[in-house]
Amino acid sequence: MKIGLIGNPNVGKSTIFNALTGMHQHTGNWPGKTVVKASGVKKYQGKTYLIEDLPGTYSLKAHSKEEEVTRDFVHSNNYDALIVVCDASALERNLILALQVLNVTNKVILCINLIDEAKKKKIEINYEKLEKILKIPIVPVIARKKKGLDNLLESISKINKNNSKSKLNTFEISNKAREIALEVVTYHNKDCFKKDRIIDKIVTSKYLSIPIMLLMLLFIFWLTIVFTNYFSDILYNFLFSFEKPLLNFLEFLHIPVTIINMLVYGLFRVLAWVVSVMLPPMAIFFPLFTLLEDLGYLPRIAFCLDKCFKKCASCGKQALTMAMGFGCNAVGVTGARIIDSPRERLMAILTNVFVPCNGRFPLIISMITMFLVTTGTSLLKALILTLFIVLGIFITFVVTKILSKTLLKGIPSSFTLELPSYRRPEILKIIIRSIFDRTIFVLKRAVLASIPAGIIIWLMANVMINGNTLLEICSNFLNPFAKVMGLDGVILLAFLLAFPANEIVIPIIIMSYLSLGQLIETPDLNVLKTLFIENGWTTLTAINVILFSLIHFPCLTTVLTIKKETGSLKWTFLSIVIPTITGIIICILSTQIYNLVM
Ligand code: GDP
Repeated sequence: MKIGLIGNPNVGKSTIFNALTGMHQHTGNWPGKTVVKASGVKKYQGKTYLIEDLPGTYSLKAHSKEEEVTRDFVHSNNYDALIVVCDASALERNLILALQVLNVTNKVILCINLIDEAKKKKIEINYEKLEKILKIPIVPVIARKKKGLDNLLESISKINKNNSKSKLNTFEISNKAREIALEVVTYHNKDCFKKDRIIDKIVTSKYLSIPIMLLMLLFIFWLTIVFTNYFSDILYNFLFSFEKPLLNFLEFLHIPVTIINMLVYGLFRVLAWVVSVMLPPMAIFFPLFTLLEDLGYLPRIAFCLDKCFKKCASCGKQALTMAMGFGCNAVGVTGARIIDSPRERLMAILTNVFVPCNGRFPLIISMITMFLVTTGTSLLKALILTLFIVLGIFITFVVTKILSKTLLKGIPSSFTLELPSYRRPEILKIIIRSIFDRTIFVLKRAVLASIPAGIIIWLMANVMINGNTLLEICSNFLNPFAKVMGLDGVILLAFLLAFPANEIVIPIIIMSYLSLGQLIETPDLNVLKTLFIENGWTTLTAINVILFSLIHFPCLTTVLTIKKETGSLKWTFLSIVIPTITGIIICILSTQIYNLVM
């Protein structure tokens, strides 16, 4: 049986979908996160259900790309049942879509979710009365606690299979929704939304909103850095406790010494460094960021930044795509579908790369820790990290403004963005999901992408042309240009070779320096810094590595996503050229300024 899950944004469709199918679709307390259809299977009492999680929409009159997906699905009639999910605390608004759907088909179940939230607000719904009025099964659920989901599947057998047009209800929509809500909903506490409104008055106020946002970011970065310092060393010592046994084991197998050296001092150490440098910041930052997401803070950021984006002839929804970019820029680019205006969507797509994704974030933190704030407090490190992120956001504004004056001229559109109720996040679940869905995923990608990169570096370090290795030839070729940017040939080569995955910039740099002759004896996390310093790094190099990491071409996955989303080679090409040129200019400027000041 094919079942479609539809409803307003942020009513818990993906939570229901995940609970039924065991899949891990992205959930979070803000409208617009599901932009593509997802499918999964549920087996129940001998029947197999194919369940489709559709993007949220307020109405069947589609405005944006992702709403079209839902509208077309409803009109296709290619399903056995539609589950229309509603938020119990906002039944009237949710009924508008439900009634529109009922004008198209009778194969509908009304699932009323979030009844725990409604209960807290002392909102009571008379389900029997609603069932009588709509003449379809009504199923109350608490998706988060997986309560009521079996009833949902059982009620599928009760729905009206006869979908002849003559039997369809014809509702006059918004008035009818109000009428029905008045009949079935009782508010025992008239001030149930008061607390949210008071918080919103502060969080979205004219003068406090941006400082609060920055403080929140600073606090998250501070926690990330404090715990990273601690866990990196523990993890590193733990991983290195395996070095000696590994060495003994390989010697016991009588493997030639050169191969043992390559495996232990090359591969094993690089992987241990990568894991201990990359794992802790991600494993700490993402749960914290997801907490904000589940709390319902992200749409407030979009609201606060709307004015700034309007000044750049764009819209605040771009802030939501930026927030998605923190996880992965390809996701941010696809997420730009929530922006209705094609011009503004393009601007959001072209500038998403200025937010550091998973793959680049640990690099920035490790550079700050190793070179910029070596003795200072974690708060200072967090402050510097916040400044770099703010610089990325500032560049987003500048580039958006330039685009709006040149290639993408036009006036900013207006948009409606629902500020959802604040909801209490599920902390344990968030930690588990962030570690498994994001951290392990990124780490796996880093380790897997490091292996072919390692082979390429090894080949480049061993193929000789006229007495020089290919690695020396390439890095020497890039060197003069890289020096103008305050980098070196190896670093620039690392950025180019890391095009498939940003995560591997640091591993490539380490592998290249190691293969250029430096051997490290003491296994210690500080040795990484020594390795860089031995290869001529200064504070300026670290600053420019951060800047270029923040502002350069998107990774291959993101570029392919941009091609898919824009369908245009021109915009794909520009999405590579614009940030790269911007990054080069900024690195040259920072080198000039640094040399002037120092
Ligand atoms: P979608 O946009 O409709 O797919 O909504 P999501 O599935 O992403 O859920 C939106 C938010 O509501 C998330 O933060 C969920 O954790 C939360 N949520 C979903 N169902 C429930 C529920 O039954 N009770 C509570 N308290 N929160 C829920």
